[in-house]
Amino acid sequence: MKILKTSASAQKLALKLRSENKIIGFVPTMGYLHEGHLSLIKTARKKADVVFVSIFVNPLQFGPGEDFERYPRDFKSDEKFCRDSGVDYIFYPENNDMYPEDFSTYTEVEKITGILEGKIRPGHFKGVTTVCLKLFNLVQPHFAVFGQKDAQQLAVIRKMVLELNLPLKIISGEIKRESDGLAMSSRNTYLNKEQREDASVLYRALSYAKRKIEEGYNRDIDFLSHQMYKLIKSHPTVTKIDYIAFNNNRTLEEIKSLKTLKKNTEMLISIAVRFGKIRLIDNFVIKY
Ligand code: AMP
Repeated sequence: MKILKTSASAQKLALKLRSENKIIGFVPTMGYLHEGHLSLIKTARKKADVVFVSIFVNPLQFGPGEDFERYPRDFKSDEKFCRDSGVDYIFYPENNDMYPEDFSTYTEVEKITGILEGKIRPGHFKGVTTVCLKLFNLVQPHFAVFGQKDAQQLAVIRKMVLELNLPLKIISGEIKRESDGLAMSSRNTYLNKEQREDASVLYRALSYAKRKIEEGYNRDIDFLSHQMYKLIKSHPTVTKIDYIAFNNNRTLEEIKSLKTLKKNTEMLISIAVRFGKIRLIDNFVIKY
């Protein structure tokens, strides 16, 4: 496994691999790797000749007052993790290489970035799409693997790739969870003991909605969100519920009623909750 620390060296290598007809699979991350990242790496490994992982805590996607400075970082451990997972190349650039002082070019997907995460975190997706486009240009992947954990991010990236005719495929990876259902996340390390115990309520609330929808007795969205809200709010370390939302998983269009839904619609139920200052997101996709 090799570590590439500059964008120039990553692109040079990627172009060489392309000229040798190697299939390049790519997993972009912000590091502090866990089993969720591992499952994306494994998916890439199955389909690619060469697997690239990027580790870059992208300052552009953090708003003022968010956790950019204290985002967990441990490159030595990530390096070992990648080596053990069969990664071929880690791209580990510096901020000033990705964003020199006079940097002023951005990519933005409109509309679907104005809801859910984008509404709570203005500018977040502009940072995400800008860095992903740069990373795609550097790593030259045939495909990139993104987690369903960040459902809106996945939809936004798919839209950018489609609308800007980027020559790569986007593949999604399922959400990996702890034994109590909490979705794995680098941010889980911020949680204290009480918050960690309460945090599994996200999974329980989503499971409740799924069960009710599948049982078919009560499919009223307002009722379901209200019940989910009550369940989550009953946990003492919950300080704020940013949203509980029902959307089309592909278009992110809001789903107001299940009665008018077309068969086989992928319904995204997503939630964002704060435990103290720590903000966690989770979601289920239900084929309706
Ligand atoms: P991050 O390092 O948090 O930016 O995440 C990098 C990639 O890993 C993104 O595509 C995430 O959606 C994905 N990811 C994060 N957590 C999980 C998880 N628990 N299961 C599957 N994929 C995940």
